[in-house]
Amino acid sequence: MPKLIVHGGAGTIAEARRPAYHRGLRAALAAGWAVLETGGDAVEATLRAVETMEADAEAFNAGVGGSPNRDGEVELDAAVVRGADGSAGAVAAVRSAPSAVRLADLVRRSTPHVLLVGPGADALVEHPVDREHLLTPHSRAAWERWRARQGEADAAPPPTGSATVGAVAQDAAGDLAAATSTGGVLGKWSGRVGDAPIVGAGTYADRSVAVSCTGRGEAFLRAVTAKALAERLAAGVGLEDALARALADVRDHGGEGGLIVATADGRLAYGFDTAHLALGWTDGTTTVAEVLGAATVAVVPGP
Ligand code: ASP
Repeated sequence: MPKLIVHGGAGTIAEARRPAYHRGLRAALAAGWAVLETGGDAVEATLRAVETMEADAEAFNAGVGGSPNRDGEVELDAAVVRGADGSAGAVAAVRSAPSAVRLADLVRRSTPHVLLVGPGADALVEHPVDREHLLTPHSRAAWERWRARQGEADAAPPPTGSATVGAVAQDAAGDLAAATSTGGVLGKWSGRVGDAPIVGAGTYADRSVAVSCTGRGEAFLRAVTAKALAERLAAGVGLEDALARALADVRDHGGEGGLIVATADGRLAYGFDTAHLALGWTDGTTTVAEVLGAATVAVVPGP
């Protein structure tokens, strides 16, 4: 039976913004499920779910509404991996893609490469958009608040985790895929690349497992989180244990966050250690979309 799990980022999600998250998660699940229930493959399901959240101007930090860097520019990162053959596409620091994850899939399907960055990736965008298109009133205001605080002695570090989006699916043929898309971290340096577009760190899939991560990217990069989780599962570690150890590794590397997982034997699972995780999943019978508030690891109950 096909399955889909999505996240809309790990971090602190203000009460007032939760209805927008719920709507966005449900729209993403509906878009991805429409692919799976008509026999479409896991890659297309994850792309549809993620691009739906990228286009959401109200909730998420990906595509429209991506967090601006310190110069006020939106630079997007994304990746998609197909478990069946390990094919992968990724883009980083792109400025003109309305859907970075679709661009990542173009790299996967149509180039001899896995990861294209900056102008080289932007050059492949079929219908480029400008900075103004990607900024929203919310992302602009967040950046202005961030900028106003720079130079203050007690200026807070940039917030951890901020509504990155991801999807992991298993299709009717049993194949797995993972996709992640993000604006990165508010106030990041120009050219900074997080974990989302790095295969094995923030996004990964093979024949056994698919993973999408969210949180402080530098820690996920150092911990090579997604691939390390896959290796632990392959070595026989239980799913909940592997999730807990993934989060512990991230903490050991100075970060926090969350991740979603699908396994070839049909399980969906998640874990996070931030204040909140925006999470949704569906197996066609049950659909859940919520902002979770108690750090945990869990395997989604089967039908
Ligand atoms: N992992 C993302 C990054 O560091 C941010 C996030 O998930 O909120 O680019």
